[in-house]
Amino acid sequence: DPQLNSDYNFQNFIEGECNRLARSAGFAIAQNPGKTAFNPLFIYGASGLGKTHLAHAIGIQVKERFPEKTVLYVEANKFERQYADATRSNERNDFVHFYQMIDVLIIDDVQHLAAKQKTQDVFFHIFNHLHQSGKQLILTSDKPPVELEGLEQRLLSRFKWGLSADLQVPDFETRKTILQKMAYKDGIELQDEIIDYIANHINTNVRELEGALVSLMAQSTLNRKEITIDLAKDLIDKLVSNTRKEITLDVIQQTVCDYFSMPVDQLKSKTRKREIVQARQIAMYFAKSKTKSSLSTIGARIGGKDHATVLHACKTVKNLLDTDKRFKSFVTDIDKMLEN
Ligand code: ADP
Ligand code: MG
Repeated sequence: DPQLNSDYNFQNFIEGECNRLARSAGFAIAQNPGKTAFNPLFIYGASGLGKTHLAHAIGIQVKERFPEKTVLYVEANKFERQYADATRSNERNDFVHFYQMIDVLIIDDVQHLAAKQKTQDVFFHIFNHLHQSGKQLILTSDKPPVELEGLEQRLLSRFKWGLSADLQVPDFETRKTILQKMAYKDGIELQDEIIDYIANHINTNVRELEGALVSLMAQSTLNRKEITIDLAKDLIDKLVSNTRKEITLDVIQQTVCDYFSMPVDQLKSKTRKREIVQARQIAMYFAKSKTKSSLSTIGARIGGKDHATVLHACKTVKNLLDTDKRFKSFVTDIDKMLEN
């Protein structure tokens, strides 16, 4: 199938806490498209975390199990362009009919439909038709439905009919597994120390892990050098300082959790354990000072809290910075990690 990249299959998609729900829902859908409660499946998460890969994997698996079903993968931008072309050449009905015949429709990066009123209208009708006929919809986006500004309410409410599942930054262990599998696929063997070093220093997303490994292999081939820990350290340090990474809510949560050695889920959970509350407050404080996110977005993403909780967290952190030396050293360390 030309639209589906055969490398982006389930077998190559490494499972971890970071993607468990989205992956297993996707897998269940692939066995039973249109017949599960996950319709639509709405997969969201920051860039490079595997949305496109997972969306393809579902499509590939459906095609394998049900060769007679029509699966269509399309990027939202392309959908928009096709619709504009169809309208221009008076083929709007053909466009709509074409999409209404599909059994499994995958639209990647639906955030790009923001502010595209006409395209949203036509998508709304296609969505309704497919959903009512028991066809499967899979959507991906860089934000959860609640944060998709510029999308019509009636579409957003439909996006929430099925299951919304996010992809998070993989934790350290999963980063290691991903690196091991990637290296293995490329036929190279890396010492544990090297894998650890990369997994420790590249904690943004899977695309960058992949990029680091590729650069490392290229370096070693070009210079005809073995991949040693020193070569790896040199290269990774350069990569990390070159890509002044964007400080996002995900990066902040991951960094705080890495620092305190706790899983990100804990931070996002409702628990009131002291250490976790404190880590959460620190994450909120950095989110407020280093991103443009609103208090309510920060609260929603970090533990499902409201804006007053975030405001309170920021005050608490500021107070402690003035009064508690140990606390201050935590915050300073994390700041350094974020700004590296
Ligand atoms: P997104 O669409 O969220 O920006 P992609 O799906 O393009 O991210 O993923 C970026 C790269 O990382 C791709 O090469 C993909 O194969 C790889 N990748 C992402 N998540 C995983 C995973 N869980 N296991 C293996 N590879 C992954
Ligand atoms: Mg993508």
